[in-house]
Amino acid sequence: MEIVPGVHALRVIGAKAHLVVEDEITLIDAGHRGSGRLVQRYLARIGRSPRDITRIVCTHGHPDHIGGVTEIAAASGAVVYIHPSDAARLRIGLRDVIANPVPGQVIAFLTRPLSDPTPLLHGDVLPALGGLHVVHTPGHTPGSVCLYAPSLRLLFSGDVLQFRQGRLTRPHQVFSDDLEEARRSVERLAELDVDTICFAHYPPLRGGARDALRGLAEAWV
Ligand SMILES: [Zn+2]
Ligand SMILES: [Zn+2]
Repeated sequence: MEIVPGVHALRVIGAKAHLVVEDEITLIDAGHRGSGRLVQRYLARIGRSPRDITRIVCTHGHPDHIGGVTEIAAASGAVVYIHPSDAARLRIGLRDVIANPVPGQVIAFLTRPLSDPTPLLHGDVLPALGGLHVVHTPGHTPGSVCLYAPSLRLLFSGDVLQFRQGRLTRPHQVFSDDLEEARRSVERLAELDVDTICFAHYPPLRGGARDALRGLAEAWV
């Protein structure tokens, strides 16, 4: 599904991925392991090849977002980007999990780490959509990022936000590490001029996203 010209949402295993289709293709998130063939099939439908993917950007390190990365990177030769806080946590040891067995640590322990990803930092600007800005938005995970395209007033939110029954809401309580940090991240997002939000697990919010973000930040107690 094309959300706006050049920005496609596609169903992969366990989540949605987004493709920014330009001369070079940027893939945002990659579903669970096994999602590579779905990405390949979608690209074939729009007349493109996996080799056109030059970068894979992970919004965070949960397995429904990075499980398919390794196979797609192998087929494309793309550079893989993730925030260093999530990259580091994927290398957590059993001893750390036993010492602090919170869901985020257990999930990280059970998720296969990415091999040699490129760090994605707050303020980085990727060469897609005329400049795709990285906004560090910890809370759901320590290394969660959103990607903001000012040219389209478009935000890719990963799992930092939910959109249930037509309402923008905070991230999932059980699978998020720190809801107080998540609140500060939503405040940071509410400062952006956003019209459309692309979520990893919900249909897009089209129009009025900035007001919805401000409303969520203000109502959060
Ligand atoms: Zn997710
Ligand atoms: Zn997640």
